[in-house]
Amino acid sequence: MSDEHDRATTTTTATTITYTFDLDAGRLCLDFANTLASSGDHLTTYADLVAFAAQSDLLNREDAAWLHAEGLRDRVRADGVVVRAQRLRAAIYAMFSALAAGRKPREYDLDQLNFELAATLTHARIFPTPDADARFRWGWVGRNMDAPLWGISRSAADLLTSQQDLRRVRECSGTDCRWLFLDTSKNRTRQWCSMQSCGNREKARRHYARRRSR
Ligand SMILES: [Zn+2]
Repeated sequence: MSDEHDRATTTTTATTITYTFDLDAGRLCLDFANTLASSGDHLTTYADLVAFAAQSDLLNREDAAWLHAEGLRDRVRADGVVVRAQRLRAAIYAMFSALAAGRKPREYDLDQLNFELAATLTHARIFPTPDADARFRWGWVGRNMDAPLWGISRSAADLLTSQQDLRRVRECSGTDCRWLFLDTSKNRTRQWCSMQSCGNREKARRHYARRRSR
C-alpha cells in the first residue's frame, strides 16, 4: 500500500477507507499520539483506528478491509479496542512529552505500554525477506481485531530504547499545539511542528508581543 500515501482514498471490496492522517512526525508512535490534536480528536472509532493503521502501512489492503468489516460486525469488541488504543495513545503522549521536556516518564504510563507490549509480542514473529541475501524482518501472525495496536506498541518501545532518536523527540512550542515530532534538523533546533502553521503564527505572536512591550 506504499503507493497510496497522503490523503489518498482507496476502495476495497468491503468498504471505503479514507486516509486523512498527517503522518510527518518521523515515527509511527508519534504520528499516533498526534491523532489527538488541538484541532480535535481524529481517532474516536474503530474505523478511524483501522484507517490510521492502513495509512501507516501497518495493514495490507485485505487485512484492513477484513478488520473494518469485523469492527462493524462486533461493535462491543471494536469499542474495547478503541478504549485500549486511546489509553495507549495517552501513555505514549505523556511519556514522550515528558522526555521532550527533560522529565522522567511516569511509571503508570510505562505500565500501560508494557501491558500492550505483552499482548503484541504474542503475535510477533521474524520472517526472512524475499531478497537473495539472508535478511530478516519483524512481522505479525494472526488476524485479530487488536492488530492495529501491535505496530504502534512496538514503535513506542523501539523509540524509547533507542539511544539516538529518543534525544530528538520534541513537542511543538506553538501555543495550544501538542504535536510531537522527531527533530532531524542539522542543528537539532527545530521548534515547531510545521513552519506553515505554528512557526509563522508564533513568530507573528512574538513580534506583536515585543512591539506592545516597547
Ligand atoms: Zn505546532
